[in-house]
Amino acid sequence: MQLTKQQIDYCMECGVCTGSCPISYDRPGFSPRQMIKKTLVEPDGDILESSDIWACLSCSRCSDRCPVGIDFPEFIRSYRAKAIAVGNLPRKSHHGIFQTITSLQTGSLTQNRIAWAQESGKIQEKGDYFFFVGCQPYHDVVFEYLDLQMIDSVKSILTILNKMGVEPVVSNDERCCGHDSFWAGDEEQFAKLARKNVETIKNSGAKTVIFSCPEGYSIFRESYPAIVGELPFEIIHISEFLARELPKADITFTKTGNGSVTYHDPCRLGRRTGIYEEPRQLIGLVPDTELKEMENNRENAVCCGTTAWMECSSCSKTMQIKRLQEAQRAGAQTIITACPKCQIHLSCAKSNTDIDVEVKDLYAYLSENI
Ligand code: SF4
Ligand code: SF4
Repeated sequence: MQLTKQQIDYCMECGVCTGSCPISYDRPGFSPRQMIKKTLVEPDGDILESSDIWACLSCSRCSDRCPVGIDFPEFIRSYRAKAIAVGNLPRKSHHGIFQTITSLQTGSLTQNRIAWAQESGKIQEKGDYFFFVGCQPYHDVVFEYLDLQMIDSVKSILTILNKMGVEPVVSNDERCCGHDSFWAGDEEQFAKLARKNVETIKNSGAKTVIFSCPEGYSIFRESYPAIVGELPFEIIHISEFLARELPKADITFTKTGNGSVTYHDPCRLGRRTGIYEEPRQLIGLVPDTELKEMENNRENAVCCGTTAWMECSSCSKTMQIKRLQEAQRAGAQTIITACPKCQIHLSCAKSNTDIDVEVKDLYAYLSENI
């Protein structure tokens, strides 16, 4: 979506966006309101040279609250390709490994994306359901040093699906969903990935694609149709699928005394796709679990601090620590996430503190208690 000048003309300069923005709290001078105002005066002025263009997390906390519906994340994204063209580049995290992995996936490479699935469950080459696994096999390797066992999340999902009688397609030909390319302003790369993924899914014969990663789900939903037209299959997030199907399935959750947990709403699953209740319903299926809400929950949740593997900064760390402290204040022993990046970022921040809150993936949590 490209914002028209008329849309930003609607800005009333109320400052709700800046007051809502977690980056504005910690980054001196960062003001969505001011950026819009300056751009109205001089469309391609300062903004293209400024590092602020990369600081926005596209978390949508501002746009969700804007009284005239200005989509600030899309506004800033629409300038990013132009900023790159004038040499204003983002700072890549983790030495750019994820940008490299993504770029390799636009070509004709052979991947081993399914070994984990063959070891841990039953999958098919063709069938009604396609499980879009996303980057977890790569996260598992890159973040081995944090001992996060990222692959456990998708293994857990496959275990649960198999117990429900679903043997999904998991494919070596799946590519990065392109979420990060899109938000970093690389629309050409995004379009290549989108076309490859849709072709792979069509070839599998799947009628429904199940996503575990909120980013994959949101980008298919919001941005794939502009590239490939109407999607030739249904898409659903695993939390919606399980909240609908698990209560009907012959699956028993055991009592394990999990204590108090809280749920961290990922921006892509919450504000961008409106899924707030389903993950909470799933947590509620586990006996002896007391769900405690953090002060900033649902629409008000605060981002995990980084997006698209770029611009990890002291702001990111401050946000992550604040989020963990919020979980602690809520009285939770565990903070449950439904997004791999939230799990990685919160765990990374926690590893340098003595905050006594366990960071846990939602599906690993469910699977452990079946
Ligand atoms: S919240 Fe919306 S109307 Fe208010 S300053 Fe920000 S962009 Fe303008
Ligand atoms: S999308 Fe999030 S980080 Fe970006 S300006 Fe809005 S509130 Fe701030």
